[in-house]
Amino acid sequence: MVQLRIEDLEEYAIVNNIPIMQKDGIEFLTQYIKENNIKNILEIGTAIGYSAIKMARVSNDIKVTTIERDLERYNLAIKNIEKFNLSDRISVIYKDALDVDVESKYDLIFIDAAKGQYIKFFEKFDKNLNLNGTIVSDNLSFHGLVLDDSKTNNRNTKQLVRKIRNYIEFLKENKNYKTTFYTIGDGVSISIKLK
Ligand code: SAH
Ligand code: MG
Repeated sequence: MVQLRIEDLEEYAIVNNIPIMQKDGIEFLTQYIKENNIKNILEIGTAIGYSAIKMARVSNDIKVTTIERDLERYNLAIKNIEKFNLSDRISVIYKDALDVDVESKYDLIFIDAAKGQYIKFFEKFDKNLNLNGTIVSDNLSFHGLVLDDSKTNNRNTKQLVRKIRNYIEFLKENKNYKTTFYTIGDGVSISIKLK
């Protein structure tokens, strides 16, 4: 059997319109994981397993738990993770993240799921983050619409943009965390837990 390559996942995502992390965004995230010696990761939003696989490959003592609510994507993720021989280090939970109760504590939580629910994800999983741990959030630019939403007239899109703006405000005002925003990829934030 021909070995599946990371590039194959990137291609599959483009062809099938799966919103995996952008190249510079995932590069930034994996670099952060490396530099900060992150070992235990919780991801909200697996899609086809691309970012989970990229994160797990940073070092062979990294463990990733990732949650996906779409059955087709969950199944694909499981297959892809098997093909990369990472089933022992990446576990995928098929459920809506808001219905999942995880016990473990993590060094990093990566929020990359429904953009309208980021505050809920953040508040729900805060208890699972170690002190000095990091919450990374993706898509805070939302294709540039967060800065300027005059490019769309779609009501749902406008509402999502409003929710992302609320989330950004929520992060800025949250005194338990120190958040830095980056214009990398589709907009990424790093929130470090201070207390
Ligand atoms: N992190 C992935 C991309 C995730 S795309 C990568 O970069 O490779 C976002 C995914 O989140 C979608 O597959 C969607 O089905 C899933 N999702 C959205 N809301 C969710 C929720 N509440 N619980 C679990 N998964 C969710
Ligand atoms: Mg994303």
